[in-house]
Amino acid sequence: MAAPHETQAPAGAAPVPDYDAIIIGAGMSGMYQLHCLRELGMRVRVFEAGSGLGGTWYWNRYPGARFDSESYSYGYSFSKELLQEWDWTEHFAPQPETLRYLNHVADRFDLRRDMQFHSRVAAAHYRESARGWDVVLEDGSRHHARFLITAVGPLSAPTLPRIEGVGTFQGEAHHTSRWPHEPLRFEGKRVAVIGTGATGVQTIQEVAKTAAQLTVFQRRPNWCAPLHNRPITEEEQRRIRADYPEIFRRCQETFSCFLHTPDPRGTFEVTPEEREAFYEELYASPGFGIWVGNFRDMLTDPAANKEISDFVARKIRQRVRDPRVAEMLIPRDHGFGTRRVPLETRYYEVYNQPNVRLVDITETPIERITPKGIRTSDAEYEFDIIVYATGFDAITGSFDRIDIRGLGGQRLKDKWAQGPQTFMGILAEGFPNMFMLMGPHTALGNIPRSIEYNVEWVTDLIRTMRERNLTRADARPEAVAAWTDHVKAVGEGLLSNEVNSWFTGVNTNVEGKQTRIIARYSGSAPAYRAWCDEVALKEYRELALA
Ligand code: NAP
Repeated sequence: MAAPHETQAPAGAAPVPDYDAIIIGAGMSGMYQLHCLRELGMRVRVFEAGSGLGGTWYWNRYPGARFDSESYSYGYSFSKELLQEWDWTEHFAPQPETLRYLNHVADRFDLRRDMQFHSRVAAAHYRESARGWDVVLEDGSRHHARFLITAVGPLSAPTLPRIEGVGTFQGEAHHTSRWPHEPLRFEGKRVAVIGTGATGVQTIQEVAKTAAQLTVFQRRPNWCAPLHNRPITEEEQRRIRADYPEIFRRCQETFSCFLHTPDPRGTFEVTPEEREAFYEELYASPGFGIWVGNFRDMLTDPAANKEISDFVARKIRQRVRDPRVAEMLIPRDHGFGTRRVPLETRYYEVYNQPNVRLVDITETPIERITPKGIRTSDAEYEFDIIVYATGFDAITGSFDRIDIRGLGGQRLKDKWAQGPQTFMGILAEGFPNMFMLMGPHTALGNIPRSIEYNVEWVTDLIRTMRERNLTRADARPEAVAAWTDHVKAVGEGLLSNEVNSWFTGVNTNVEGKQTRIIARYSGSAPAYRAWCDEVALKEYRELALA
């Protein structure tokens, strides 16, 4: 990278380094965006809070962390050479392997030289006179760029539970997304896990293998389904390499970019026997098939949803020996698939082990974390280690944690106080030249597939602006209104939008996030891309370009 040149600084002020673009975050989206903008010949700086790259896969080092999407559908698809030189070892790779992969990508494309680690962005303010963004890091250093690209991730602002006494515990306590880099051993230890989402489930099934005693504090159970992971054989590896074009073509076609796609049949269009056989087949198959490859009406028709929920409840009862514990593990407040389905490997069997106990904290609430452990309404528990698998201030949380201000000093957090408003999840009106990757109201699904699309869309817009000597892009208010209406319309009738979860922006640990909003785009990924393609094809009429 050319050394950043110095802009004319106001008298007395230190010179400010100048970049064409600043990217916040060195995860999968920030990495690819850096690569694409450098291809345009731009001077780019990536600021990353962590000590290394990899985003989600850098931070989430908790025991048992691994893919829930097939490894070969998850990696970057943009480079044929990269695809041919990397072999995944398992169908669902563990976190250390994914982090190695991302470091390999960074080395291969020489990305690290434009990344600055230990650099958390505290503020980003748009300056109209410069048609660009002033960015301030937590250490007080100031930087300026024409374009600001947020690659902050939808699940990267971890939240500790709002329970009295958090912080007073004298043993070891870690949030899963802030896990220590040195291995933590559980042998001989009394361990508590709070939280039973996808992260908690992966953690629990791993910790249960070695802990002297594991106590799981569950508020609401989730519907989990088997992952069916296994190593990739050499023969499979050869086939995967040859099939990459087909694998990614399929991901482009499916509803949420996974290899699985809804079955065109309705739940009640088949006989009860056929239905049961189909559920059995899905339950025995690897990955998200049972969630996103199920009958087409499973997530819209309550009666159809009840059929699959009853099926999975029967499985839980078969797998958990103590009927009382089995009932505790069966969700009552939402149907199968209406929250993110945690994929598991012998998770339910964990509760058959003598070293594991389950505490239902809706019955006996946690009153406080004490120096020695956890006190509920009916017992005092002592622990050596507490694991907080309590999730994230999802989707908008990472934006809220940065002081982002647009035209006239308007704060993004205030603008989104009643829920996010965006144009295609990429632009926010009044925040010119700020482009969001995986922002609110984008299609999420198999995230790298969506990332690649968003990055390429942003790159095309920036290329067009540079070719036409344009220096300012903002979303028109009517375009934002139309998109926001569209997002609401495609979410109508979806059972998942009637349930509290991070999908609907609810986090009981965050002030002001107790009520449901439309946080994500819940239409199909092909429909999302069609909308965005059309905008580009029609020369960005929905944007005010100058
Ligand atoms: P989550 O799904 O939001 O789960 C958080 C858990 O903590 C829930 O069980 C929640 O209970 C509990 N909790 C939160 N605050 C609490 C409190 N004050 N007291 C007691 N319990 C509390 O978060 P996550 O498990 O970290 O997963 C987030 C998302 O990350 C997933 O849905 C998934 O998209 C992604 N993820 C992906 C993978 C993968 O691909 N392999 C793995 C892990 C995570 P309630 O349900 O009652 O709120």
